Amino acid sequence: MGKIIRLASCACGTVQCEGVGAPIVSAVCYCSDCQEGGRKIEALPGAPRVLEADGGASYLTYRDDRFRCVSGAEMLVAHRISDRAPTRRMVASCCNSGMFLKFEPGFWISSYRLRYSGDLPPIEMRNQTRSRRAETAISSDVPSFSRFPMRLFAKLIRARIEMLFGL
Ligand SMILES: [Zn+2]
Repeated sequence: MGKIIRLASCACGTVQCEGVGAPIVSAVCYCSDCQEGGRKIEALPGAPRVLEADGGASYLTYRDDRFRCVSGAEMLVAHRISDRAPTRRMVASCCNSGMFLKFEPGFWISSYRLRYSGDLPPIEMRNQTRSRRAETAISSDVPSFSRFPMRLFAKLIRARIEMLFGL
């Protein structure tokens, strides 16, 4: 049985990336870097949204070997919130769509949920809520954590082990 492939597209359709199989995690991050990085992308001319209404950044996080750009990769431009920042946010320069981010030392990429269409895995958790600034109450549909929870690290460790064993 083939793995489900989800397509992430920039607003104009030039840049297309695909995530293969189930993501490591589907989560919203409220850390200050994710909020600031997202706001900076959204401030680019004509940029579509990358953040949720409450400022959170919702991601489908995939292993590096389960995510790739299938067209328009040459249009991707890296944005960093500072010169020394370890995270590159990749923006489709054709239409200023934030596509995904890459944390340098990590083996995963986090792609913006808002770039996808169709049937998506449900959000599993909201993280780093201590930096959430919205006036509205946080949704209680899934667990919220003030920092990064152990269950997130457990998912990353499991994914890393599976990757090492070629699973
Ligand atoms: Zn585009």
